[in-house]
Amino acid sequence: MARIVEVSTTRLARRLHTPFVTALRRTTEVVSVAVRLTDAAGRTGFGEGPQVWRVTGESLESIEACVMGPLAEVLLGWDPADEPQSAASVALAGAVVGNGGARAACETAVLDLLAQGAGVPLAGLVGATTASVRTDVTLAAQGGFGAGVDASQFGQVKVKVGLDPADVDRVVRIAREAPGVPVRIDANQAWDLETASAAIGALLAGGVVLEFVEQPLPAWDLAGHAELRRRWGTPIVLDESVFSVHDLRRAVDLQAGDVVNIKLAKCGGIHAGLDIAREATGAGLGLMVGSMMESELGVSAAAALAATVSPDAVHDLDAAWWSIPMGDSGSPYRHGCFVLDASPGSTHASSRVVPVDAHWTVRAVAQR
Ligand SMILES: [Mg+2]
Repeated sequence: MARIVEVSTTRLARRLHTPFVTALRRTTEVVSVAVRLTDAAGRTGFGEGPQVWRVTGESLESIEACVMGPLAEVLLGWDPADEPQSAASVALAGAVVGNGGARAACETAVLDLLAQGAGVPLAGLVGATTASVRTDVTLAAQGGFGAGVDASQFGQVKVKVGLDPADVDRVVRIAREAPGVPVRIDANQAWDLETASAAIGALLAGGVVLEFVEQPLPAWDLAGHAELRRRWGTPIVLDESVFSVHDLRRAVDLQAGDVVNIKLAKCGGIHAGLDIAREATGAGLGLMVGSMMESELGVSAAAALAATVSPDAVHDLDAAWWSIPMGDSGSPYRHGCFVLDASPGSTHASSRVVPVDAHWTVRAVAQR
């Protein structure tokens, strides 16, 4: 291959066709940072880092500063083809603490370059053998169940619950519309132990079949999650509690969860995600891969991980669907699945998401 000679960033902004509401925030637009790596052969690889103040603490400005600072120092002049595929993940993790979204964007861009060089899709490069993965659709906590949204292609719904006491009644009504169909709920850390316990009790008493309850309690409260599992036997998904293999080990030690939701912006990229998946599977936990409010570019990388570590699970990869116009014939969302990018690297996704006239901030190798 060839050395990386340029690291560039630009902002991606896409309006959502429907506002997305959780216990923590209301989102009407996806704004993220695209990273572009250019090698000496003129090839370009892309990745995406999402702003997630309330979970990862990253902002657009912090991602840009991190990418153009310490991460560019690692990448410029480096030839990824000289190293094992996981080397970028290790080198980027050695350059900064945290900043998982910035690292993931850079690692994805490196893997995009490697995959293009090998003439294979990104998902194939990292080991996926399926052409698509199933995903749920996440519906808003306020404004009524699926109001104004045609999410009928999706076979599985995840309902955001939390701050509104009426959420429990709403989930009971949803469950009665489709008796016996398991419901996923995600409280995004909104409850304390007793509130969560009361909510789960009310849902079960209302006849709701709970597939799982995701992150009902604050990220730090592993003991509380373990207590909920003991009280109700309802599967618990850990999302905000698990950023790293170290977080995962603590959760396993305390028997705090049944499933881990892996996100590239938390763990720092595909290879870090593979490490978490390996350990979680070894500990008997289930796997789900999710994403932040990213465009198709970032979700394509998450889907590549999902298809590699748990091809049969129903993942949590609907984020980009909210910003793709209905009827878009190039959409990767088909029949409740995310269809993996079949082009070399993630060329299809990057060509759809990154405007040709984007203004890039560039740091070149000569500036070192
Ligand atoms: Mg979640």
